[in-house]
Amino acid sequence: MEKLYEGKAKIVYQTENPNHVIIYFKDEATAFNAQKKDIIEGKGILNNKISSIFFTLLNQAGVKTHFIKQISDREMLAYKTKIIPIEVVVRNLATGSIVKRLGIPEKTEFNPSLIEFYYKNDALGDPIICYEHVLVMKLATEEDVKTIKEMALKVNQILRDFLIKHDIILVDFKLEFGKLDDGTIVVADEISPDTCRFWDAKTGERMDKDRFRLNLGDLAKYYQEVLERIEK
Ligand code: 5GP
Repeated sequence: MEKLYEGKAKIVYQTENPNHVIIYFKDEATAFNAQKKDIIEGKGILNNKISSIFFTLLNQAGVKTHFIKQISDREMLAYKTKIIPIEVVVRNLATGSIVKRLGIPEKTEFNPSLIEFYYKNDALGDPIICYEHVLVMKLATEEDVKTIKEMALKVNQILRDFLIKHDIILVDFKLEFGKLDDGTIVVADEISPDTCRFWDAKTGERMDKDRFRLNLGDLAKYYQEVLERIEK
């Protein structure tokens, strides 16, 4: 199969159908714009399975995503998209970069949830941008931004309601959006403990990539725990 793209955590392959791609999940873990790197055995399998469950949930709820089906432990079949170069972050509780950047106290609740845009550009370190930057840089149109925001908030509501039933707090997450050939905007990339912050509702323990970022250890064990809870 032709390799279309290889990123830090995934490889995208073209299939015989020009509109379909296979996404392969690797075990590589990176943080801080790839300055910190490691291989965590089994992470790719866990992220593929967890992402597949979330995308299935969203598809069933009428949120359009690129996900078609999980086809193996490490692979999912997805619609080919043109990725919109914006990382959309939704925050329910303050932690991570917003605490460092703005001095907002840790665990401050955002109600309504906060949406931020980051310019997807590794060379620049994915800088935070505002709505006007998106338009000036022609990263997306006004109409696209409206759609993306509505979709991001809907994803937040669906995942938050689902996860809390499994004693997991959805603290924040990052989404990427892509366009299909006909211009339809879909949720793309992955939705996993690599791209979300999950806190155990009972113990407050981190069950996400912060275990790697903050050197807390046992990453695969906690990703496995997320999978087992949401499979129930
Ligand atoms: P923060 O801006 O606090 O570092 O991250 C906010 C949320 O977005 C976290 O859930 C984090 O995992 C996710 N996120 C933001 N940027 C990236 C990124 O480049 N890669 C990944 N995997 N997640 C990101």
